[in-house]
Amino acid sequence: MAVARESGWRVVEAAFERSATRHEDCPSDDLPEVAVVGRSNVGKSSLLNAVCRQQGLARVSRTPGRTQLINLFRLVLQAPDKTRRILRCADLPGYGFAATDRQTRERFAPMIGGYLAERPPLRALCLLVDLRRGIGDLDRIMLETAGEAAVPVLVVATKSDKLGAAERGLARQRIAADLGIAKAAVRLTSASSRLGLDERGGLVDDLADFAEAPPRTRASDEDGGAA
Ligand code: GDP
Repeated sequence: MAVARESGWRVVEAAFERSATRHEDCPSDDLPEVAVVGRSNVGKSSLLNAVCRQQGLARVSRTPGRTQLINLFRLVLQAPDKTRRILRCADLPGYGFAATDRQTRERFAPMIGGYLAERPPLRALCLLVDLRRGIGDLDRIMLETAGEAAVPVLVVATKSDKLGAAERGLARQRIAADLGIAKAAVRLTSASSRLGLDERGGLVDDLADFAEAPPRTRASDEDGGAA
């Protein structure tokens, strides 16, 4: 007998706030924040639109001149019991696939590195990876940078609808093995079919968890004896 999948949290409001060139220009309030990053064409805009249920929301990040900016969105999430949580989403610039991509190495990586290291409200980084392509050189650099900044990373595999169930499992296993993490830690998603988004334990539930997560404690915070 087929069992209906239990639905999880959903985004009930989403709005573009503003763009920033550097982390210093991002809002200074302490709204919990989740950053989204991935190589160009990984499906970042599509996933953001799907998660927010608003076609065209992330289009702003694709207009000329805005592609190299941090684009900030304010999301209101609602649980099945109507509890609400607010989260800011930072759409970071897309980068090339290989570390030989000069523009990425010289411009985007330092900007993203500065943001990850210096942004206090940041709760997690969602690293988007095309399920069929797997992890690239620059993805590894992003992971290392996030590790150094003590930012938890969620690996989100995109475009899962492009593979059949068996191939999907293998591709997921390959990404997990490549990163030395558990297979279950690689989230399978599709902006087209909505796989992995709305169900219990899907990506929107992950976002709701991040909205409640405590800020990271960094060694420098402890050394400085901040209140
Ligand atoms: P971005 O550059 O990372 O923002 O990528 P886009 O969201 O613009 O997507 C890049 C291409 O992949 C577009 O042609 C999308 O239609 C396609 N795409 C994105 N998400 C999916 C998905 O979940 N399934 C499929 N089949 N195609 C997708």
